[in-house]
Amino acid sequence: MARYTDAVCRLCRREGCKLFLKGERCYSAKCSFERRQKAPGMHDNARRKVSEYGSQLREKQKIKRFYGVLEKQFHLTFERAERMQGKTGENLLKLLELRMDNVVYRMGFAASRAQARQLVSHCHFTLNGKKANIPSMILKPGDEIAVSNKGRKSHAYENLNSRPVPAWLSVDPEALKGKLVLAPERADVDLSDLKETLIVELYSK
Ligand code: SF4
Repeated sequence: MARYTDAVCRLCRREGCKLFLKGERCYSAKCSFERRQKAPGMHDNARRKVSEYGSQLREKQKIKRFYGVLEKQFHLTFERAERMQGKTGENLLKLLELRMDNVVYRMGFAASRAQARQLVSHCHFTLNGKKANIPSMILKPGDEIAVSNKGRKSHAYENLNSRPVPAWLSVDPEALKGKLVLAPERADVDLSDLKETLIVELYSK
């Protein structure tokens, strides 16, 4: 699968917010965005007038980069959100939050969503006791994730990440497993200033 391989900190500067793409570094004083917030490139484009389409596109790019999802997968998730009851924008964010790679990251089993994605595809986890290696799989309340035998052999989980676990998840660090207790709400998404309605407008054109 295609993936972004360039320097990721420039994505935070482009989107004007922290996207937490580099694990522990993002929470430390070494975070590049803390030191330099200007958009990448030679010209300071802070004063450039942004069109309606431009701001819609920026919001879409921001959320795609935050969750590490490429266009095709993102569009499929949007179409699924449209078919659900309720607000499409909020449904979209909830579906992205329920992706297996994101849940692994939020449980603290990986330092970043990119690492979680790789660990899931390398069969480091089971879902409800069965092999699961599809990072884009959408989980539901009651689902249980556990580090697989292969994962345990890797010793990657000896120092579990110390980020707080959100209330919609529960984790048993000793047993190396966690459960999805509730479906996440809009307020549980870390990008509080994201305007998801702009993404809905963009796809409605
Ligand atoms: Fe973004 Fe800072 Fe993390 Fe780099 S270290 S990815 S700038 S949040």
